[in-house]
Amino acid sequence: MIEIRGLEKYFGTLQVLKGIDLTVPKGEVLSIIGASGSGKSTLLYCINALEEIQAGSVKVDGTDVHAKGTDINALRQKLGMVFQQWNSFPHLTALENVALSPRIVKGKTKAEARDIAAKQLEHVGLADKLDVYPSALSGGQQQRLAIARALAMEPEYMLFDEATSALDPELVGEVLDTMRLLAEEGMTMICVTHEMNFARDVSDRVAFFHQGVIEEIDSPDKIFGAPKSEHLQKFLSNIR
Ligand code: ADP
Ligand code: MG
Repeated sequence: MIEIRGLEKYFGTLQVLKGIDLTVPKGEVLSIIGASGSGKSTLLYCINALEEIQAGSVKVDGTDVHAKGTDINALRQKLGMVFQQWNSFPHLTALENVALSPRIVKGKTKAEARDIAAKQLEHVGLADKLDVYPSALSGGQQQRLAIARALAMEPEYMLFDEATSALDPELVGEVLDTMRLLAEEGMTMICVTHEMNFARDVSDRVAFFHQGVIEEIDSPDKIFGAPKSEHLQKFLSNIR
């Protein structure tokens, strides 16, 4: 479970997160929506300790992420992260890219790491691309490679930061399908997304961010069907 209490984050004097309280139980799929600049990415970075925080706490399975002495590497192995774009290693094949972290971070043997990589590439529908170099993959395939790479660490949680935003429209669906598959398999997921159909169909809950606060959090039915906050109503009418 991820437990966030009273989280405040500043960049200099700019307060970006203004007291976030959020609990994500195991197995939940949470989508985060909201305008650009509202603090969505920053929240994800605070969860996996890519950013420091100024007040409050983030706990992952009871471990205080920002406490002195926390094993950040062990923590990050639990938290798979997929960004808008990931620059894979161009001189390594898809298989080698995915096998890298199991080998280096988890200390797997070369053969074990290759088995894990092959399994996860198959998982994301790239079984026929094991020996291909990233430059020969489409944008959607590269994002699925990024998902496979995260999964190869056997994470307990997956954090997606606009994983489809940099893609041509015709490539979005294959990545969303992969994310949907993970959700169906029971993965705990936090998905920052602009894909409202995905948020509505796949999420257990949807959180609407507005200027550094969670202004509304509820079931997809409530968020999309009966939004309470004026800011959320306006946000939804602008994107429809
Ligand atoms: P979102 O992901 O919702 O678009 P972000 O979390 O990226 O929003 O950013 C929230 C705010 O924090 C924005 O005003 C952004 O300009 C600011 N910000 C983000 N990262 C930094 C940084 N490293 N230094 C200074 N300001 C930042
Ligand atoms: Mg962002």
